Amino acid sequence: MTREGWFDGKPFVVTDAMMSQPWSGYRDCRMFRCHICGVFFKPGSVARFIWVNGIKAAQDAGVHCGNVTVCAACDGDDIYTRLAEHEQIGKERYWSLVDPERLPRNPHSTYRGRR
Ligand SMILES: [Zn+2]
Repeated sequence: MTREGWFDGKPFVVTDAMMSQPWSGYRDCRMFRCHICGVFFKPGSVARFIWVNGIKAAQDAGVHCGNVTVCAACDGDDIYTRLAEHEQIGKERYWSLVDPERLPRNPHSTYRGRR
């Protein structure tokens, strides 16, 4: 896998040509948005693609999602830490939207089996 162009981990400006590319498999750009705040990217947006899969710093921070793209407002040197926090907030506050296999058990449950 090459890490050139916008894969190089540096901020990039979204172009018109990017708006019909298959982002995460969807050419309607439903997945082309900030993975933290959710804003949809549009031409002129500044964004950054961030490697997560196979990156030790991401794993050490506790990030479990796949590779992400973030907007300039959400980006920062502590992005892996904030992605991990974002994931944790999502699991706690928006638990009903999370894959049940990734949810913690209710600590008040008296059942001792796995599920
Ligand atoms: Zn954002």
